[in-house]
Amino acid sequence: MSCGKHHDLDCGAALDHLYEFLDGETAPTDHDQIAQHLQECGPCLQEYDVERIVKALVARSCCEVAPAQLRSKVLAELVSVRIRMGPADRG
Ligand SMILES: [Zn+2]
Ligand SMILES: [Zn+2]
Repeated sequence: MSCGKHHDLDCGAALDHLYEFLDGETAPTDHDQIAQHLQECGPCLQEYDVERIVKALVARSCCEVAPAQLRSKVLAELVSVRIRMGPADRG
């Protein structure tokens, strides 16, 4: 699934690192690229919606139930990316 635009970081790579991104485990360069991708590429977020991201994070951390805290953290991070990057005005 792709939005059809060219990205420096392709959708698969962005989503591969999304969990690390949300965990704060990415290198600064990767973090910037992923943040930029999320800003440019709506389909990524629609395809991999917050619930799926939270589930994957939970699977990684071996919990059975997603803590509400984790869900809020994911949401907050996605919102903060959008705020930091500003409205998409390219492409
Ligand atoms: Zn895209
Ligand atoms: Zn994408």
